[in-house]
Amino acid sequence: MARSPAPIYLDYPATAPCDPRVIEAMLPFFSAMAANPHNPHHGPGRAAADAIERARGQVAALIAARPAEIVFTSGATEANNLALKGAARGQARRGGHIVTVATEHASVLAPLEQLAREGWTVTVLPVDRGGLVNPGRLAGALRPDTVLVSVMAVNNETGVIQPLAEIGRLCRARGILVHSDAAQAAGRLPLDVAADGVDLMSLSAHKLYGPPGVGALYVRQATAGELRPLMEGGGQERGLRPGTVPTPLVVGFGRAAELAAAGFACEQQRLARLDDRLWQGLGARIRGLRRNGAPAARVAGTLSLTFPGIEATELMEAVPELALSSGAACHAESGMPSSVLLALGLDAVAAQGTLRLGLGRFTTETEVDYAIEAIGRAVGELAIAAAGLA
Ligand code: PMP
Repeated sequence: MARSPAPIYLDYPATAPCDPRVIEAMLPFFSAMAANPHNPHHGPGRAAADAIERARGQVAALIAARPAEIVFTSGATEANNLALKGAARGQARRGGHIVTVATEHASVLAPLEQLAREGWTVTVLPVDRGGLVNPGRLAGALRPDTVLVSVMAVNNETGVIQPLAEIGRLCRARGILVHSDAAQAAGRLPLDVAADGVDLMSLSAHKLYGPPGVGALYVRQATAGELRPLMEGGGQERGLRPGTVPTPLVVGFGRAAELAAAGFACEQQRLARLDDRLWQGLGARIRGLRRNGAPAARVAGTLSLTFPGIEATELMEAVPELALSSGAACHAESGMPSSVLLALGLDAVAAQGTLRLGLGRFTTETEVDYAIEAIGRAVGELAIAAAGLA
């Protein structure tokens, strides 16, 4: 097997490396162009404010929104918290029922658990074996007092794409707000907030080759008045997210969004080819290998693979030159089987035998081929050891 230029990074859904063009755009705002963008009384302050407005336009364009509908946050976790707690508290007089899905990210489920402790009723819908929520079932869960539905666009562990537009349509017809966590979707799927019928959408720059520590919440113009901020402060971001806007990070986020939009079709085709190569290559070497998530509704580049009879943690240890994940990085340390995989109907043993391989912009064919060989060989050795033949 050819030596690899290790380590090989196959954990793009956890975070993507910053694109060098993003870093280049950010750099001046850390030093030569540093200024508080909320000070209109000097040139540097105004230049920083202009840079932020340009970035706002770039982020808005990625999801076909208006610039004024973008509220910058520290990431998707904060955007999800602001969307859910903000919309629930802002609409408390209208009703106290919220609907979501079992496979949502912890940064959606945990704020909803908090709201439930505060008195809201939260319905958590199941998914089918492919990881999809059934829109008919969702419609059946809506009540006269439902004020909010939160359904992610793309799942972080399986890459499964939820039928957002259909969900958006049926909620809009009933006057119910729709929130979507699109942290894993932006740059991997064409997103159009109006076509998807979404009122609130969370984004994260570091999943998009932008810097960590910045994200955004799209707030539909007609919805802005129905949202309560999480914090009080200086009134920035139309009062919805007070605090000095971090100009370098926001500029990087804007550039990352611009690059994602410009290279979209080409990048997705390349990723689809690499995804197919990896899946076919591993499938040919590993008997009984299964891929989780509905094949017809998956983004390319996120592979959730169940290795029969193997512990994912042992497999990761056997290929230390590959940066892989046994599930969402956010609860990798807990050692608990992934709740997403359990929701798809995997048992605990299968869930513990599942790895996530994530490909991205800088993944090469050589790296994919190396990963196929390395994982194939490690699985063979672990299987022999398990059979007591070693
Ligand atoms: N939602 C999803 C689907 C994610 O994958 C992540 C990142 N793991 C987040 C939210 C949180 O994003 P951030 O790191 O920007 O807070």
